[in-house]
Amino acid sequence: MSDNQQELISQQALRAVMDNVGAFIYIKDLEGRYLYANQKVQDLFGLPLDEIVGKTDDAFFDLAASNELSENDLKVVQLGEVREAEEHNHVKGTHEIRIFWSVKKPLRNDQGQIIGMFGISTDITERKKMELELQQQNDFLRVIMDNIESSIYMVDQHDNLRYANRRLAERFNLPQGDIKDVHISKVVDAQAYELISANNKKVFETGSAERFKERAMTAQGEEQVFWSVKVPHTMVTGERMIIGFSTDMTEMFHLQEKLRRQSTHDDMTQLYNRRFFFSEGEKLLLTAKQAEESSCFLVIDLDYFKNVNDEYGHPVGDEVLVAIAERLADQVRKNDLLARFGGEEFALLLPGTPKDKAIALAEKMRKAIEATPVKISSGESISVTLSVGVYTDPNSSQNFANSYKTADALLYEAKSQGRNRVVSS
Ligand code: GH3
Ligand code: MG
Ligand code: MG
Repeated sequence: MSDNQQELISQQALRAVMDNVGAFIYIKDLEGRYLYANQKVQDLFGLPLDEIVGKTDDAFFDLAASNELSENDLKVVQLGEVREAEEHNHVKGTHEIRIFWSVKKPLRNDQGQIIGMFGISTDITERKKMELELQQQNDFLRVIMDNIESSIYMVDQHDNLRYANRRLAERFNLPQGDIKDVHISKVVDAQAYELISANNKKVFETGSAERFKERAMTAQGEEQVFWSVKVPHTMVTGERMIIGFSTDMTEMFHLQEKLRRQSTHDDMTQLYNRRFFFSEGEKLLLTAKQAEESSCFLVIDLDYFKNVNDEYGHPVGDEVLVAIAERLADQVRKNDLLARFGGEEFALLLPGTPKDKAIALAEKMRKAIEATPVKISSGESISVTLSVGVYTDPNSSQNFANSYKTADALLYEAKSQGRNRVVSS
């Protein structure tokens, strides 16, 4: 092969490389006139090489709008700088804006004088568009994460927090965003950690989203109850995580508890209410019956209570009622059922209790109330007495409502016998 042939082959090979490299390659002289442009440049301009050579960029780009292009070229040919920069070029033919990553270097002769420049530009328009979309998505997500009322977090399999949104960071004095090596046990109290850790383990084990009621003390020292949704998530790295959403439900849970308590308790005295006495009493009576034990009913009513109200006013009357309720509650056992039946009347069921014990308890209560007047907040002492009807059903054969009725009749008897006494069946 002759030298000429070799030269030709190497030139052809070089050209093939230039045309297939996937970048825009070009050479310009000191005046910015094209000396060479590879196939990609020709395709972009929509012209063959011979129609490009000799022309400046003015023919192909809107130079007023593509200011980085001329600026970079000038710096390369006049100052001999190497430029690596992003360029936003407005293509005249298609009216598109294309973004390039351009590397431009001066071209020198053997004496080292700059005789022109060459450049390699990569079209990064699509990549930039994707980056922009990604950034927009990230911004959007960040706004949500930072403003949502729920705590959002990511936890790994070793109970390390790996991400915390603003709400969680505020609740537990944590750094916000991507975090490393913050162990949950260092964030919440020991008791809360135990439950949270067990819940997380369950999600990793089942591999499916789970919901839990959780609680923790916040950095502000308040106990909060959370409703937590925990979703298993595998990262692109293969690492297994939980993405969690915890919503503060403290107020709702407290309200729920309050409502539940209100449905069974009397708001003023905190004793059980009439409805609960009937529903629960029925069950207790049945259990005693099955054990062939007798049960006793006590109906207690304060004597001449109207006079207390008349003399001291209704609020003081309330105060006395609360104090008496407390004292009665102190005397009953765990399995006994004491309720405020309405007004200043109380009912007490003593399941599995023989008659003598029930009468003894009624007497004890009556004497205790009689012996110690109630001290009210103003400092005054108010003497109160009570009357009790005690009904014993040795075989627990009566139904609940009838037993209560009989006890009430016995109370009436106690009242008519002069009050401050116990009357039994
Ligand atoms: P006695 O039972 O001895 O026949 O006389 P009493 O004056 O206690 O009469 P009764 O039991 O029939 O009436 C209950 C009175 O208790 C009526 C009312 O003034 C008072 N009372 C009822 N419920 C409340 C309450 O919730 N708060 C207050 N302060 N008083 C109440
Ligand atoms: Mg009364
Ligand atoms: Mg009454």
